[in-house]
Amino acid sequence: MLKVSKFGGSSLASADQVRQVCDIITADPERRLIVVSAPGKRHSEDIKVTDLLIAAASERLTGKIGASECAEVIERYRSIASGLGLPPEVIKPIARDLTERLEKSTTDANLYMDTMKAGGEDNCARLIAQALQARGVEAHYVSPKDAGLILSDEPGNAQVLPEAYSCLRDLNERPGITIFPGFFGYSKEGYIVTFSRGGSDITGAILASAVRAEVYENFTDVDSVFAANPSIVKEPAPIAELTYREMRELSYAGFSVFHDEALEPVYRAQVPVHIRNTNNPKAKGTLIVPNRASTDIPVVGIAAMDSVCCIYLSKYLMNRQIGFGRRLLQILETEDISFEHVPSGIDNMSVIIREENLSVQKEKRVVEQIRQTLAPEDVFVERRLSLIMVVGEGMRHTVGIASRATHALASAQVNIEMINQGSNEVSMMFGIKSEGMETAVQALYAEFFD
Ligand code: ASP
Repeated sequence: MLKVSKFGGSSLASADQVRQVCDIITADPERRLIVVSAPGKRHSEDIKVTDLLIAAASERLTGKIGASECAEVIERYRSIASGLGLPPEVIKPIARDLTERLEKSTTDANLYMDTMKAGGEDNCARLIAQALQARGVEAHYVSPKDAGLILSDEPGNAQVLPEAYSCLRDLNERPGITIFPGFFGYSKEGYIVTFSRGGSDITGAILASAVRAEVYENFTDVDSVFAANPSIVKEPAPIAELTYREMRELSYAGFSVFHDEALEPVYRAQVPVHIRNTNNPKAKGTLIVPNRASTDIPVVGIAAMDSVCCIYLSKYLMNRQIGFGRRLLQILETEDISFEHVPSGIDNMSVIIREENLSVQKEKRVVEQIRQTLAPEDVFVERRLSLIMVVGEGMRHTVGIASRATHALASAQVNIEMINQGSNEVSMMFGIKSEGMETAVQALYAEFFD
């Protein structure tokens, strides 16, 4: 059997961390397909290699040189290599590669940016392969281009193309341990394109799905997924087991431990995901599976997402007008705005959008279009809202969860502006003003977990 193991940036930030990663890889002969991020932060004030590369690229795109940021990246790899006792020559091809990337043409700014960003993962994978070889282990770097990781032509936000899977399946046959850089692939035209930020999780999931791995291990820097954000709730409960649907809802609403786009490939192939801690590999971690045996636990987690806004409109007898909703969403589509939820009443509709997708200029155009096309009695935009999600498959079989949740929010003096529950009953969503977000999460956590 084959395990796909992905190591996040904090697991690769220093020589000590890389040593730990190599120990984990070699401890299990089934760990044969390894996906790596770029070195992350060594301490809270540190800068991730990917952010340094973005800074270098931004300098060049504004007509400057970007050399000092690039030199900082090279220094990060040099210090990891020397800390591992690797010969100084190993750094030469890495320095050359990064300098060449920096000097590439900037004619297409987005493609240039992606070429730079991908340099973090690509060089990290080469270095990890060398670190394993230095231990006498058969390990090979494999390029996403050679392996056939073909992505859509959407720089910074690419998606895997279906034909990639059959090419990637051959990774199964490779000898020794394959070290694969996360975060990027190639467009059909042969250009480097990256996933959205944190996208090495997506690479791991695609590979795990393509080779039908026994498990996709996702090594990070926490013992497990927790039932609430530890910066809001003190010592939240660890979650031992989650379904794909539950994890999808939680990562959608701010649980950053696993990228929400990474669930789709493993879900399709039904490969379980095991979230584990590089610095505490003995911890049980969190297992993400198709179905959870213990659905008697109604709620598994409380998530919160801020920086959302809402377009609210009302019109008497809206429910009788055929095509009203379609025309409203058409206006958003024309402005290239994706929406999150559409809670509605008989005479009103609200469209919830991430603030970053509705600039002030877009807001003006959208509201004007709504007035002209739909002639509502009222239309306005409310900003600084948060969505609180109460997540759990067990809610479907349990009476009274909504009542307990609303009661908890009322007791904490949090005013609910919107409620939404999908028919699959995996989550219940409350829209509230952002200033009440922490209080709401704490109140709901106390209700369902304390
Ligand atoms: N290095 C990339 C980022 O910081 C991708 C990743 O770490 O998954 O977003």
